[in-house]
Amino acid sequence: MKAVRIHQFGGPEVLTYETVPDPRPRKDQVLVRVRACAMNHLDLFVRKGLPGVNLPHILGSDIAGEVAEIGDYVTGFKVGQRVLLAPMSFCNHCPKCVAGLQNQCRQFTVLGNAVDGGNCELIAVPAVNVIPIPDSLDFNQAASVPLVFLTGWHMLIGRAVLRPGQTVLILGANSGVGIAAIQIAKMLHARVITTAGDEGKIEMARELGADFVINHYQQKISEEVRKITNFEGVDVVIEHVGQATWEQSVKSLKAGGTLVTCGATTGPKVDIDLRFLFSRQISLLGSYMGTMSELYEVLGHVFAGRLKPVIDHIFPLKDVRIAHEYMEKSQMFGKIVLNP
Ligand SMILES: [Zn+2]
Repeated sequence: MKAVRIHQFGGPEVLTYETVPDPRPRKDQVLVRVRACAMNHLDLFVRKGLPGVNLPHILGSDIAGEVAEIGDYVTGFKVGQRVLLAPMSFCNHCPKCVAGLQNQCRQFTVLGNAVDGGNCELIAVPAVNVIPIPDSLDFNQAASVPLVFLTGWHMLIGRAVLRPGQTVLILGANSGVGIAAIQIAKMLHARVITTAGDEGKIEMARELGADFVINHYQQKISEEVRKITNFEGVDVVIEHVGQATWEQSVKSLKAGGTLVTCGATTGPKVDIDLRFLFSRQISLLGSYMGTMSELYEVLGHVFAGRLKPVIDHIFPLKDVRIAHEYMEKSQMFGKIVLNP
């Protein structure tokens, strides 16, 4: 099959489109013909070098395609069936896994991170990862859903326990997590404040349902949040930007508010003023992907059309270097999808 592999860490030039042996499914696995694989910032981090990545390595976490072959021990699937893959790998037998907390498994990793991903034509995965999709979703749309909608759901529902009527600040309306979190928060009747960097993105954020959009290049986020909330602050902040926005995010919280973070795109080291933390009784929570049960829950809303993936651009898989350069410019609104 054709695959994009990296043999060393580095810039887009290390992405190599080449012929590799077809993967063979184990008896408990399903072989899936990849029709679409959506990109995430994780692809850039893995390409540049992360611990636990064995070379050569195939990138790609968000996969949709068709069942090509079914292992002897697997039942319930048909060859040719349209599916998406849960974007994670876990042992499925430890106490955390059997309790349904797959993202706390010691072996937990994201597809395309510590295990090979979907920047290829065929992938073999455990049957537990394979989820049928309705005809209403094409492969590009289906591939654009799993990682960001699961992450957004776990942050808002699993961690922050968002309630109707609460006010949420969601950083980066154009990011995958931003697009998912805005829609999830609106579906749950929360009030959404988000941020965007230009007029086009501000308009698109409003179309997604955001009630207020702050221009993060021209306005100070915490000052605008204070004006919008009558000097009170927000109940929940959804953070994934890191260093560049951390201080503004913390300052935007109301007393007793909750900040949830799932990423550090602009850098991982931040300052915390402990006096502010304890006197304002703030909660700072980490969030990493989500559980299989949460994935099924959020997919139910996607399949019913209540939550919608947003696609920015589709590239042929062989143009993966151009796709990485495009993502590094951070000008997109929505997912970048690769087609083998
Ligand atoms: Zn486990």
